[in-house]
Amino acid sequence: MTDSKRDTNYDIIVAGGGFAGCAAAVAAARTGTGKKVLLIEKSGALGGAANVNLVNPFMRYYTKDPEGKPLTVLSRGIFGEIVGRLAEKGGIRGNLFSEETLKTVLDEMCAEAGVKVLFHALVCGADASDGFVKSVSAAGKSGIMTLSASYFVDATADADLSFLAGFPCRLGREKDGLCQPMTLCFRVGNIDTVLFRKSLDIMQRAYLEAKESGATDNPRENILCFDTLSPGVVHFNTTRIVKLDPVDPFDLSEAEIAARRQVADIVKLLREKVPGCEECVLLSTASEIGVRESRMIDGLYTLTADEIKACCRFDDGIAACNYDIDIHNPEGSGTSHYYFKGNDYYTIPYRCLVPSGSKNLLAAGRCISVTHEVQASVRIMPVCCCLGEAAGTGAALAAGSGCGVAEVAPSAVRAAITGAGGFVG
Ligand SMILES: Cc1cc2nc3c(=O)[nH]c(=O)nc-3n(C[C@H](O)[C@H](O)[C@H](O)COP(=O)(O)OP(=O)(O)OC[C@H]3O[C@@H](n4cnc5c(N)ncnc54)[C@H](O)[C@@H]3O)c2cc1C
Repeated sequence: MTDSKRDTNYDIIVAGGGFAGCAAAVAAARTGTGKKVLLIEKSGALGGAANVNLVNPFMRYYTKDPEGKPLTVLSRGIFGEIVGRLAEKGGIRGNLFSEETLKTVLDEMCAEAGVKVLFHALVCGADASDGFVKSVSAAGKSGIMTLSASYFVDATADADLSFLAGFPCRLGREKDGLCQPMTLCFRVGNIDTVLFRKSLDIMQRAYLEAKESGATDNPRENILCFDTLSPGVVHFNTTRIVKLDPVDPFDLSEAEIAARRQVADIVKLLREKVPGCEECVLLSTASEIGVRESRMIDGLYTLTADEIKACCRFDDGIAACNYDIDIHNPEGSGTSHYYFKGNDYYTIPYRCLVPSGSKNLLAAGRCISVTHEVQASVRIMPVCCCLGEAAGTGAALAAGSGCGVAEVAPSAVRAAITGAGGFVG
């Protein structure tokens, strides 16, 4: 007798349970009525960087008028639904959200859509030939499992599945392969936040002095911090590790240790120098260092900075974005921003999700086919969610007709997304 709890054959397998992967799996299950969908996630919860890297808040996903008033919501569909469900549970205020509520919302959405979720399984291999992926290998506590499907979505953020299946990938910026810095996010509690907000200049000055005196080796130019939903707790997104390879475990190990030292330096500085932080305590560091940029697929189309600066809208556009080109210097100090006009946006073509030569694999999230500069804009969670919704929809439509992922009519993907409440420009 087969144990359906342990099925190894699916119609669609999605690798990676971040915003892109969750949206891909839910969209695939909803669009492909009756199709069996498996979502494989290496950690023990859904949410991706919001979960494993403690990333918060959502960056801007709407156009705005000159006064900053929101005009058009660009990330809707499944992302809008997640925001709505977070609100129902009291887990969101403005763009700040509760990661714990998010985990529950995503568990519920996957369960309702009929997605089978497999936690604690790392996709570590693929059986593929001639552009066709037959199965993936996933490492669990008892060894390697083989899981097969007719279609796959790579939402691992690092393009692991595409790389393991032999599709061409690129790492980092075009001129030297360097990626945006890695950052270990952390939370500090027991802060008098009213006083702290008045002391931000003091904090920044103290930080520059610490850098000058060698009290920290953090190359970042200032301290970046955000409010949280919890009283007295501040979120810090400010460690900076440069020139290490985010897909090399040895480099990642070095990065984790160096970033933890930077965290300790900043907590010490807060306690000693910043009014409102005298009795502060380090509540948590993320369980893994956050990777802004790593491998990207080489897709049927690679979106460029000139195109997004011109706010191009494509016939096969499947998601819309106007978040800044926000580049944390891959070499050290400095962060550059290119801001779009508040009321304009660009769209992202479906072809950016199709690895060159792929018959049954799509990519979604921050590993799609774009240049280093474009990745610095599309990488935010709301947009990754919409890219996932598009990939899951594309995979389900391909599964419905049995065609290759490149043969799916983009107009059908666009129609399905808008029909489900999404926005494609
Ligand atoms: C430090 C930092 C700060 C950021 N700040 C913001 C911010 O303030 N606001 C914002 O909107 N965005 C921010 N971002 C960007 C954003 O968090 C990410 O780009 C986005 O979450 C990417 O979504 P994703 O679904 O593509 O990947 P992820 O969210 O990274 O999800 C990928 C998932 O796949 C899993 N996985 C990976 N490899 C495998 C494998 N081989 N097998 C199985 N599972 C696997 C991972 O565990 C993870 O759950 C930040 C990113 C970083 C690193």
